[in-house]
Amino acid sequence: MPTWPFDNTYAALPEQFYARLQPGPVANPGPIRVNQALAEQLGLDGEWLASPEGTQVLAGNTVPEGAEPLAAAYAGHQFGGFNPQLGDGRAILLGEVLDRNGERFDIQLKGAGRTPWSRGGDGRAPLGPVLREYVVSEAMHVLGVPTSRALAAVTTGETVYRDRALPGAVLTRVARSHIRIGSFEYFTARRDSESLRLLADHVIARHYPAAAHSDNPMLALLEGVIQRQAELVSRWQLLGFIHGVMNTDNMLMSGETIDYGPCAFMDDFHPETVFSSIDHNGRYAWCNQPSIAHWNLSVLAQCLLPLLHGDQEEAVKLAQAAVDTFPERFLAVHQAGIQRKLGWQGSAQGDAELIEELFALMAEERVDFTLFFRSLADFADPASPAVKVDDLFAMPARFLPWMQRWQARCEQDGRPATERQQAMYRANPAFIPRNHLVEDAIAAAVNSDDHAPFHALLARLEKPFDYDAADSRYALPPRPEQVVQQTFCG
Ligand code: AMP
Ligand code: MG
Ligand code: MG
Repeated sequence: MPTWPFDNTYAALPEQFYARLQPGPVANPGPIRVNQALAEQLGLDGEWLASPEGTQVLAGNTVPEGAEPLAAAYAGHQFGGFNPQLGDGRAILLGEVLDRNGERFDIQLKGAGRTPWSRGGDGRAPLGPVLREYVVSEAMHVLGVPTSRALAAVTTGETVYRDRALPGAVLTRVARSHIRIGSFEYFTARRDSESLRLLADHVIARHYPAAAHSDNPMLALLEGVIQRQAELVSRWQLLGFIHGVMNTDNMLMSGETIDYGPCAFMDDFHPETVFSSIDHNGRYAWCNQPSIAHWNLSVLAQCLLPLLHGDQEEAVKLAQAAVDTFPERFLAVHQAGIQRKLGWQGSAQGDAELIEELFALMAEERVDFTLFFRSLADFADPASPAVKVDDLFAMPARFLPWMQRWQARCEQDGRPATERQQAMYRANPAFIPRNHLVEDAIAAAVNSDDHAPFHALLARLEKPFDYDAADSRYALPPRPEQVVQQTFCG
């Protein structure tokens, strides 16, 4: 077996942070896919990973030398209610590797068997959600969104029982770390301020090294997380991405997206869109994501209170002031992002109204979110063979006045039309992992053992900003009978 470049730091933290255990072996592992580019980046032998011996490792049947497998302890607010003990119930961290640039990444097997934190669960993952996470997380990565990634997927040769019997699988997940807001809540709930401090120091060293040199490192840590989450959620909003389970245990300190359970990209735009089968009240609807992030960050701030300098009253003031900056931080990055989508280089008076009217109109007309912005880009250069954006609307007449104002605003912005169009093409993807395409790929794999649609979808999503008419099928919204209403956790 090739050596893995492990350099484990989480496993060096005290024992209350995790449970050490081996992945649970599976009956008959089979390869699905190895992410060769990511393997290369991580200094791993991708060809070997795809071999029968590598498949055994990716399934958890053998453990590479230098791995220190563990399941991390954490707590979390799920749908607003606190659960003091969650933890990795089906994910096992093999260890951390340093990639070719010296950057540190966790390597985790998801679906690797029961752990002390499994509660009633089986510790396993069905094939469908594993493929969904693979496709969507890799798509997010190429779309420029900070995210956990997929190094590999393998089948287990075992059956997983949900509402029906399903084939089992294991996903190898890679992330800068798996430390969550809920990791802090775990020690807060136990009034263990010593562990809290160790964890905060670990996160600073790993993700916010500059904070260590600040006057108040813990405050700098909090501000750093707030800024990264503002940027992250803004990116989600600008792509029409709905996370689905924004519980505090699913928000990473690193600012990467994690937990692709019942997530989805919107087709028809409506701000209240929800896909998650478990989100009955629409708590995690698209339009609520920024305010939920804000709420989650206030939970983190509360955890960090005992670590902030000064007396308690002073600490509360500092933490509150930091949390209060979330809306303005979010708006700043979000406005800049919308400007890019609309082809503008800077801001001008009246932009806010123009943008607000656009989203209101899009919602009323239920226009396809991705296709709309992409078509607007087609329209940005009068010299190019224009797709008629107004065709997308049921009542085009209502949209034309907005278009005229957008065009006037573009002229005021002053950049050549061709340049604007190119910039818009880079800001507005043609290809996203549309829900019906993901579902088709999953259905073929689960029902017919056919992984070809999964591989084809991944290949098409590698270049999301380069439209190719030959692949128009991947760019189009679902036909009515293809629309997916709900997505599931797995
Ligand atoms: P999630 O909703 O995916 O964020 O998961 C919430 C909690 O449930 C985490 O502690 C997971 O590890 C745990 N969990 C989810 N699915 C399973 C499973 N099949 N077996 C054991 N634990 C699970
Ligand atoms: Mg989770
Ligand atoms: Mg999950």
